[in-house]
Amino acid sequence: MILLLTICLVYGQKKVVVIDPGHGGIDSGAIGVNCAYEKDVVLDVANEILNLNKSLFADEFNIYLTRYSDTLISLSDRSRLAKCLNADVFVSLHCNASENNSRGMEIYVHHSKNKKSITLGASILNESTQKLGFEKRGVKFGNFQVLRETVPYCPSILVEMGFMTNEDEADYFLKSTNIRAMAVAILMGIMGYFNARL
Ligand SMILES: [Zn+2]
Repeated sequence: MILLLTICLVYGQKKVVVIDPGHGGIDSGAIGVNCAYEKDVVLDVANEILNLNKSLFADEFNIYLTRYSDTLISLSDRSRLAKCLNADVFVSLHCNASENNSRGMEIYVHHSKNKKSITLGASILNESTQKLGFEKRGVKFGNFQVLRETVPYCPSILVEMGFMTNEDEADYFLKSTNIRAMAVAILMGIMGYFNARL
């Protein structure tokens, strides 16, 4: 009984992290100059975050993905999952695209400018750009549905991990070591956010 109670208490202390790999199924997202699909890149990074949380981070977080395979989930269902799981943070993963060969990482927060979301975004952006060498484009504001519908429940951000339309950045995600590096940076950013709030 005591053991069970202890396990429940420890379990209860774990932060719930919802990682949302954007797009999926018939929605490929951006298509890279190297013909890679955004939907695959974001799922690779999300799965690596899941693996590393177990292997490298000693199961620090309770992590859930909004999709575990190549399927399309509605934006409302992604938000609903965060609500039902009582998530502590919601991180939507995307890759960018532009017509003018832009590069770098940027993070979006809903334009209601929720402070915790901004702090979370800045933590992940700093960690990623400092460790991986991506150009830092900043934390920006937008009215994305997935953020609008999730931010009432928990700090919510959308990470644009790099440009599929930039050759270097699209090729970056072809290497599993780079997928891993990005996953570590995002996890470190999430951890830095929680630690700063202790
Ligand atoms: Zn996207």
